Amino acid sequence: MLDQYAVIGNPISHSQSPHIHALFAQQTGQSLQYSALLAPLDSFPITVFDFINKGGRGANVTLPFKLQAHQLATRLTERASCAQAVNTLTFENNEIIGDNTDGIGLVHDITRNLTVNLASKRILLIGAGGASRGVILPLLQQKPLSLTITNRTFDKAEALQQQFQSYGNIHARSLDHFIDQSFDVVINATSASLQNTFPDIPVNIFAVDALAYDMMYSKEPTAFLKFAQQSGVNHLSDGIGMLVEQAAESFYIWRNVRPETKPVIALLKSQ
Ligand code: NDP
Repeated sequence: MLDQYAVIGNPISHSQSPHIHALFAQQTGQSLQYSALLAPLDSFPITVFDFINKGGRGANVTLPFKLQAHQLATRLTERASCAQAVNTLTFENNEIIGDNTDGIGLVHDITRNLTVNLASKRILLIGAGGASRGVILPLLQQKPLSLTITNRTFDKAEALQQQFQSYGNIHARSLDHFIDQSFDVVINATSASLQNTFPDIPVNIFAVDALAYDMMYSKEPTAFLKFAQQSGVNHLSDGIGMLVEQAAESFYIWRNVRPETKPVIALLKSQ
């Protein structure tokens, strides 16, 4: 039987992960099967244990179960522990090892694919949900000049500042604080794009030559990316590269082989 992997979520039919991992397996000559598992909203642990009993070696976890996966893990990596969310589970020697590859996926996409060096940059991270929490530590590890975090519900941004202040130069600021401030990299980590809208930010927020990055990906440019373009930003990216890079990191954790991501990103973009 081929080694079994899966992505677990609800809903799950939209997930690109089976396609991405099949491409990685083909490219690296790895023999494995990767499927999509729909977990009932009240039965995430049962779905995981059932998969383990059927020979599952590892799983990706997506909405809305990343927190439950964090609780289910018997061992956590530092980045998963800091994120308090898990998107990669490895089943090994009766242990469930929880990791979070979202943050390193974002950093690899920005630094390798978009060739933007984050060291000494002023970064603005908009949003304080699960995705945001997962990317803060890997962003701070790039030694930016500053990482500013803002959120519609300001308390959540403040809580993240307190949680991560020992890792680097992180500040929480309210959305109305940016009248005369600009940033080299502006990352939209809100789910506003899902509602075809964007956070209430001023046009001056983008520095000359800034990168505007939306974690969400879609066929059409998101409302945030359209706003950035209208504000004069030329360097724009959605989150498709992050999606592929976080998958590549999971693949590496499980198989100890690093797949080439650029052809997979190009293929997904063309589709
Ligand atoms: P959460 O539900 O955990 O958090 C949502 C965040 O968006 C909160 O900070 C919320 O603010 C904010 N928000 C929602 N609507 C609005 C709005 N209209 N205006 C301003 N702020 C708003 O979601 P996640 O953190 O898990 O996901 C965020 C985004 O990142 C999603 O679009 C998701 O698809 C994407 N993502 C992409 C990945 C990739 O690989 N490319 C990986 C993971 C996530 P408040 O606290 O005030 O409610």
